[in-house]
Amino acid sequence: MMVPSPHMSGSIPTEEKPVPTNAARSNDAIPALRADMQAVGRSAFARGMVWGTSGNISGKLPDGSLLMSKAGTDLADLADDDFVVALPGFDDVVPPEATSEIRMHRAAHAAGDDVRCVLHLSPTWVMLAATTGIAVPITTTAEAHLMLADLTRVPWACPGTPDLGHAVAMGLTNGTRALILEGHGALTLGRTPREALLRMETLEFVARLAILARQSGLPLIAMQPAQRAEVSERYEGH
Ligand SMILES: [Zn+2]
Repeated sequence: MMVPSPHMSGSIPTEEKPVPTNAARSNDAIPALRADMQAVGRSAFARGMVWGTSGNISGKLPDGSLLMSKAGTDLADLADDDFVVALPGFDDVVPPEATSEIRMHRAAHAAGDDVRCVLHLSPTWVMLAATTGIAVPITTTAEAHLMLADLTRVPWACPGTPDLGHAVAMGLTNGTRALILEGHGALTLGRTPREALLRMETLEFVARLAILARQSGLPLIAMQPAQRAEVSERYEGH
């Protein structure tokens, strides 16, 4: 049997090439973004920052829509079908399987084009700081100064309500990429899922440092403004 070869295509009509749209690119982008978020979920668990069904994660697709973990999923073990795609607008329709904290994620993603991932966890030391009012001093180390710049405490609002979404939007107006949610946990934003994770771990580390120092009666020495400026000049944007 004769198989037509590409060189015999003179009589075959040329196919019109589909023009890729943002939506088409988003579909193509789902597997890689999902894999990155699954890896971050596993890593957050391995770092001791995940318990039960606490926490959720979302990533921004090329068309601006959000890929997010569904309600009640286990971040330590996110399956491929544990994610749902949702429109990004604060008041857009909420998919039935989406996390109830979807508005918090939408508000955070709206904070800037650099925000490609939003991670919400309630790790132990951050929770202690979030439920006791103990300050988390970001002036103690260069990493905290850079990763947690303008760290802001968001007043308590009921989880899952639009009120919390509005409070998060307010908390991010100073440009910070890290929030402590009073009585609830923390929210970190990143250009990648990995960056959001490392920011969360830095926040958890500094909260732990502050509480251990307090327990031990050891005063934490803050970096001076000139020292902070030097760190910023040398490393900001890296
Ligand atoms: Zn929550």
